[in-house]
This record gives sequence, C-alpha cells and structure tokens, in this order.
Amino acid sequence: MDKELLKEWDKKYVWHPFTQMAEYEKYEPIVIERGEGCYLIDINGKRYLDAVASIWCNVHGHNVKELNEAIKNQLEKIAHSTLLGLANVPSILLAKKLVEITPEGLNHVFYTDDGSTAVEASIKMAYQFWQLVGKPEKTKFVKLEQAYHGDTIGSVSVGGIELFHSVFGKLVFETYTVPSPHPYRFEGTEEECKEFSLNVLRKLLEEKHHEIAGIIMEPKVQAAAGMIVHPEGFLKGVRNLCDEFDVLLILDEVATGFGKTGKMFACELEGVCPDIMAVSKGLTAGYLPLAGVLATDRVYYAFYGGDYGSGKTFFHGHTYTGNQLGCAVALANIELFEKKGYPESLKGKMEFLKKRLTEELSDLPNVGDIRGIGFMYGIEIVKNKKTKEPFSWKDDVGRRISRRIISKGVFTRPLGPVLVVMPPLAISEEEIDLLVRVYRESIVEELRKF
Ligand code: PLP
Repeated sequence: MDKELLKEWDKKYVWHPFTQMAEYEKYEPIVIERGEGCYLIDINGKRYLDAVASIWCNVHGHNVKELNEAIKNQLEKIAHSTLLGLANVPSILLAKKLVEITPEGLNHVFYTDDGSTAVEASIKMAYQFWQLVGKPEKTKFVKLEQAYHGDTIGSVSVGGIELFHSVFGKLVFETYTVPSPHPYRFEGTEEECKEFSLNVLRKLLEEKHHEIAGIIMEPKVQAAAGMIVHPEGFLKGVRNLCDEFDVLLILDEVATGFGKTGKMFACELEGVCPDIMAVSKGLTAGYLPLAGVLATDRVYYAFYGGDYGSGKTFFHGHTYTGNQLGCAVALANIELFEKKGYPESLKGKMEFLKKRLTEELSDLPNVGDIRGIGFMYGIEIVKNKKTKEPFSWKDDVGRRISRRIISKGVFTRPLGPVLVVMPPLAISEEEIDLLVRVYRESIVEELRKF
C-alpha cells in the first residue's frame, strides 16, 4: 500500500476522536501498522514505546501469543451470537471469573461494549432499582468535580470536565456535584482535604438523600481529570455515607481496574465493595471492546421476577453484548494475570517507576506535581513551581511537550497541562528508564523557550 496515499486518506476520510482536525492536519500522521511488546510500529517501521497503553487499556503488550491464540481459537468456533435470549460459552465462563476476582458481594455480570456504555447501563440500573424497591423519588445522581465517565449522554451527564462537557449543557440531566479531594489544589493537609469533600457530601445527603439514587465516582484515581489521587480513606468515607443515607455507590473502574493501581481493582485499596461496578479497558487487555457491569444481589434481585409488563425487566442491551471473541480474549487475559502473578508481582516495577519519575523530573523548574499510584501517573506542568501558577491554554504546553516526546519514539497523550504515564503492565524496567529520560529531555527542551 502506498504510504503517502494512506496518510492523505487519513486526513481526508478519518474524523479522529477528541481531535481538532484542522490542527491534526498540520502534522504528519503517524500510521500504526504493527505492535510488538510495548511498542507500536508505524508504516515506516518507526517504533514508539506505548507510554499510555493505547489510552490506558493495554495490559500485556501488543501482539501477545496467548491472547492472539485465544481469539483465533474462538474464531474457529464462532465470532458472535446474541445474548438476547441465548447464552454462549465464553460469556458464561467470563462472568463466573469476574465474580470470583471482584470484591465479595458483586455476584452478577451485565455485559456492554465499552466504558461509556457500562456507565450508561450502571446509571439506568441504579435509577430503575429505586422504582422497583418502592422509592421512585430517588432519581438524582451525585458526581465529583472534574469527573469523566465517558461520552454517551448519560455518562456526560455525570461528567464534569468543562472543556469536554460544557457544550452539551442543555442536553444532559441535572446532577449534584461534590468537590474532588484534590490535595494539589487544596491549601491544607490531605486529611483536611478529604474531610472537606466528605463534609460537603454529608451535608448534601442530609438534605437530599430522599431524592438521590446514587453516587458515581472513579475509585482512588480520577484519571481524565489529570490523575487526581484521592487521599487515603476518602473512598471508604463515601461508602459509609452511602450506607448511612441509603444511596447506591457506583464505582467506575474502567480506567483503574485490572491492576493499574497495584490492586486488581482500585476499590480493594480501601476494602470497599460498591453496589454497582463498571469495568472495561483492561478487561480484554486492550484487544477488543467489551465491558461489564457487576451488581450485588440486592440490585439484581430487585429486577428479578414478574412478567415483562411488570416493569421489573432491565430493558437495556447492545447488539454485541457478551461477544464471544471479546469474552474469549478477556478470559485469556485473566489467565495471564494468574500465570504472571499480577498485580502482586508488579510491586517492584511500580516502585521503580515512581522512583525514576521522582529522580528525573522533580527538580525541573516547571514540574509542579508528580502524582499517581501503581502505573497511573500525571506530571503537572506549571509556569511557576512555587506559586503553582498554570500556563495559559494558549501556551498548549501539554500537547507541545507530548509532540516532542512522540518525536523521540515514545507515544503519549496529555490531559491539558498534565503529561500522562500509564504504560502496559508488561513494560520492563529498561523501557521505564527510557520513557522517563525521554520525558525529562522533552520537558527541558520544549520549555527552554519560555
Ligand atoms: N470511565 C472512565 C473512568 C474512563 O477513563 C473512560 C475512558 O477513558 C470511560 C469511562 C469511557 O470508556 P470508553 O472510552 O471505553 O467508552
């Protein structure tokens, strides 16, 4: 295939997500053709270390023999049949496995296609739940500031990122917002920061619990918000308030799930079990779109029984719900977790990443914060390290530094002024070392001009 033609057709025909196409067109597109371990390889043979795990989903690297084989073996049998009124082998085995590896209490799996639809289904499930248990007035949802839960209308409604969401203001349903416990933005200790957010939530629930169906949040790390790490005990505090005021806790583990925080699921860090939990991304190791919504017995049995006219059925589902290829590769992914002893065996590598980021980046004059846990890190670039004064949007520092990082053979994508490091769990220490050195060089070179 003619490489120049491919690039031309990319610009002409493909509308890229979260992308200003007029800006995109100014640069030579990088067209990926192959993958090998933690590297993406373009049509010219140039290699890029995948520092963001192909937007936070890749786990074992690219082109992994065991995962490829799981798909090929399944393909020899069948690619897809509906889950509406039919069952299929891999979706049964995967549901059983998911119940086994998620926190005790989550006993039922509802499949969807991706993170957004998992959140969408979670919201609808929580909403209908209260009608079924005789409290139809509980219809409202609480979200955290700067929340991101995907791009469908329901998930945008519980989102709070101004740049992405404000344009859809009139289209979404109303929600209550609680401040994120973001220690970097808070003048005071982490404990005070946590207490501040929990107190706002308590007050809200005291006044409005009778109309609140659920609280939705990312446990421990708000990824798209700029890798905001919540103070210890915040999640547990939210769980306790949900119990006290009889409100459902919906945890979105789409980004944090499957080992990224050092635990299989981030809610395990605080011993919390939600009422409803959404998983996707790492579920298939970044191979195929698939998601699951896990629910407790309390939620599941509210929908159980009665005929189709009784209003108890969850009328939600997608054409590709429970897709066999996706479920087969998810099962193989979880088997690889078990074989490699993930996430426990990642402890050393995760400490190494933290140490190398601190050693190489913390002294730089424009690095305001290095925050994260496990393999989820954000490096916030600021104009003034002391006052934390940010750069203006026009300076576009995150994107400019990221472009430089990419030109040096490491693929990344920033969150505004926050550089992201969220590699596949399979990354080696040598690759971590290379990644961190390239980030340092690129920050220094790009910011020399300011
Ligand atoms: N929830 C969280 C926490 C996410 O980070 C994302 C995507 O980044 C989503 C939901 C949406 O997932 P998807 O892009 O698969 O729809």
